[in-house]
Amino acid sequence: MILEIVRYGHPALRARGRKIGKVDERIRKLAEDMLETMSDADGVGLAAQQVGAPLQLFVLDAAGFPDRPSQMWIGGREVDPEEYMPMILLNPELEKLGEVEAEIEGCLSFPGISAEVPRPARVRVRAQNLEMEGVEFEASGLLARAVQHEFDHLQGVLFIDRMEPETLGEIQGGLRKLQTAAN
Ligand code: ZN
Repeated sequence: MILEIVRYGHPALRARGRKIGKVDERIRKLAEDMLETMSDADGVGLAAQQVGAPLQLFVLDAAGFPDRPSQMWIGGREVDPEEYMPMILLNPELEKLGEVEAEIEGCLSFPGISAEVPRPARVRVRAQNLEMEGVEFEASGLLARAVQHEFDHLQGVLFIDRMEPETLGEIQGGLRKLQTAAN
């Protein structure tokens, strides 16, 4: 089922997600619908907040972007990230590694807006999958960026909070339009 994606100005986007202690049918269905919604919207990631459910859950698919490749390591060994997509991650913890790099980002809750966001180039992720099994990997490239963007959503943090003031100034008009049209 395709869910409605809430836009900038909706209070769910500022809510911190509740930790998921047990995966029941409702969580399973939500994750499945979020995958479908992300794919339908051609998104790289989608957090539960964006469909109005403040939980520690996001889905992500960084495959199929030849211009924005991803690298991934499990247990120190490099793996093919495409084999691990799409991802459904619960209760993630993030360790930021590497140099800060500014790259263009968009967000399904900010249609029509994309701008540079500085973020560390590499991260270590610890999370759980839908079976509540521990998942741990390191990532760089688009995957590292997307994981940080989605992790932020789960804390109620948005990509505009990470932008340089100058960048924010450039998109102010678009933001105002989104906010007045909001929800
Ligand atoms: Zn987003």
